[in-house]
This record gives sequence, structure tokens and C-alpha cells, in this order.
Amino acid sequence: MKKKILVTGGAGFIGSHLCERLLNEGNEVVCLDNYFTGQKENIVHLLKNPYFELIRHDVTMPFFIEVDEIYNMACPASPIHYQYNSIKTIKTSVMGAINMLGLAKRIKAKILQASTSEVYGDPKVHPQTESYWGNVNPIGPRACYDEGKRCAETLFVSYHQQNNVRVKLMRIFNTYGPRMHPNDGRVVSNFIVQALQGKDITIYGDGTQTRSFQYVDDLVEGAIRLMATGDDFIGPVNIGNPGEFTMLELAEKVLKLTGSSSKIIHMPLPADDPLQRKPDISLAKEKLNWEPLIPLEEGLIKTIDYFKTIVK
Ligand code: NAD
Ligand code: UDP
Repeated sequence: MKKKILVTGGAGFIGSHLCERLLNEGNEVVCLDNYFTGQKENIVHLLKNPYFELIRHDVTMPFFIEVDEIYNMACPASPIHYQYNSIKTIKTSVMGAINMLGLAKRIKAKILQASTSEVYGDPKVHPQTESYWGNVNPIGPRACYDEGKRCAETLFVSYHQQNNVRVKLMRIFNTYGPRMHPNDGRVVSNFIVQALQGKDITIYGDGTQTRSFQYVDDLVEGAIRLMATGDDFIGPVNIGNPGEFTMLELAEKVLKLTGSSSKIIHMPLPADDPLQRKPDISLAKEKLNWEPLIPLEEGLIKTIDYFKTIVK
């Protein structure tokens, strides 16, 4: 059945893929964004669709609309961007959640929160299960993002318990793909852009830290399946690819797939950079019948092809 769906942060990397997919499934989509890290270019191809609407708005301010579902994706995701104005990042996560939950309560919409594996901080449990409470430094450089997202999760659960709002919590693990911002400083985009430009590949620290990289189409599928679960299931649920790689391994894959002769150099490891990260996705398999389908090399090839079109 056709639904009216609000996607906050819809002009961003993940949000734009989600808007596209929801439109392709025949829904009406309203994309709300303040363009802090998102770009019109990400969604310009959707503007010709009469069922797509674009609104410039900041989620820290109240917003009113009638929709069936809300995907709350608005929040800068790259460390460079979320640390640029840490107070604003907290406001976006916390006040954004309050405003969107208040809207969901008023109009009786279902609402999904883009939470993050960063709620686990520098995890002492590996791989991370949803029952792990995390290891976050509340006053470190990543705290504005991690604690903002943790507080947003608390708000979602409270609105569910006190006001019966139908909520869904999705803990997203590192996601990559076309439309990542070339300058946003995340590792996949950095390495690909550096390789294509013949610049040095910058590994922070010794490169033995690990991440698990998920291709954006897999994430979008997981988000849609989570939204479709029954009202009694609120999560949180990990959505990520359990394939775990060191940053050295990632650099080598990018060099191989681009055929670049860039050199690998090492730079200081940022403070509080998590040493390891890998999702346990048993819950997603059980409740959503979901698992990622796109292996790292296949996703990297698609992402490299995209960056070739935008990087000079
Ligand atoms: P992104 O920076 O590309 O997209 C975020 C979007 O939100 C941008 O379009 C930005 O302009 C918009 N935005 C930021 N602050 C806003 C505000 N106050 N009001 C309205 N719009 C605002 O990042 P992304 O990678 O697409 O991430 C999307 C969501 O997924 C974020 O909530 C992020 O925390 C979450 N997430 C992403 C990853 C990842 O690996 N990409 C991992 C975990 C969680
Ligand atoms: N990283 C790196 N070189 C870069 C950018 C990042 O080695 O040019 C490392 C970073 O220190 C971290 C990992 O790659 O250990 C993932 O970083 P990203 O910012 O993509 O995501 P997050 O740390 O938020 O998971």
C-alpha cells in the first residue's frame, strides 16, 4: 500500500538512497534537510518525480506534517563533520529526536531512528551484540555524537513506554557507497579519493584497528524491513556487515581495485578511535530475515566507479 513517508536527512548519503528506494516502491516521500552535510545533487534526479517533495528545514526546530512513517536520519555522521560544531551535533540528535518523536506522537506515525554502532564506543565485547551497554567516553571528542545518539535511543524508548509511540531503533555499522561526500574524511571515501588522485593513502595509527563495512543498498533493505516489523518489536537491532577488516587490508583492497600506485603512509591515531568493531547480526537475521548480500570488493567496485565520475 502506498504510504506517505518523511525522511529527515534525506539529502545525505544514506538518506538519498533511502528516498530513492521508497519512491521506487510507489510511496510518497518528503525529504527534509538543512544541507549541513547533504547536497541537492544527491537527490536532484528525484525532483522530477511528482511524489517527491524537498523541504529545507532544521530538525532542531519543530516541524508539522501528516505522514504514515518517519525515518529520522538527520545528523552529520563523519567525525570531521560532527566535531566541527559539537554542540550543534548534540542538538541535532537530542532536539531532533524530541521534535520528530513529538510529531510521531501527534500524528500517530511509526518512527525509525538511525542510531549507530558508536553507542558501543570502544567496545570491550566483540563482536557487538545489542545487549552490550558500550564503553563510551562521555567527555571525549566523539562524545557529542555517541552520547547524542545514546540519548536519542533513550528518548525513543521513553516515548514508546510513556506515550505508546511506535518506534524502531536501528544501530547502523560503518556504511559506504556512492554519494558519500568526497571530503567527509571517512576512511572508505578518503582511501578511494587518495588512490584515484595518486596521493598518499593515509592510515591513522598502525592500521590494525578493524571495522566492518556495509554497502548502502544492504543497509536500506535492513531499514525498510525493520520499519515493517510489528509494533511490539522496537529493537535496537544491529544492521551491519560482519565481514571485519583492518584499515591496512582496506587500503590494500582499494589499491588493487583502483590499480593505483599511491603509497601508504601512517598518521597519528585520533583520540578514542575504537580498536575493533564487528556486528553480531543474529537478531536482524531472526527478526527481519535480513543479512547483507554485497561483499566488500563488490561494493568497493561500485563505489570506485562513482568516485571516478566526481573526482578530478
Ligand atoms: P550524511 O552526513 O551524508 O547525512 C546526514 C544528513 O543529515 C545530511 O543531508 C545533513 O545535511 C542532514 N542534517 C544534519 N543535521 C541536520 C539538521 N539539524 N536538520 C536537518 N538535516 C540535518 O551522513 P550519512 O552517512 O548519510 O548518515 C545518515 C544517518 O545515519 C545519520 O543519522 C548517521 O548518524 C547514521 N549513521 C551513519 C553511518 C555511516 O556509516 N554512514 C553509521 C552509523 C549511523
Ligand atoms: N581512518 C584512517 N585513515 C583515514 C580515515 C580514517 O586510517 O584517512 C581510520 C580511522 O582512524 C578509523 C577507521 O579508519 O580507525 C574508520 O574511520 P571512519 O572515520 O570512517 O569511521 P569511524 O571511526 O567513525 O568508524
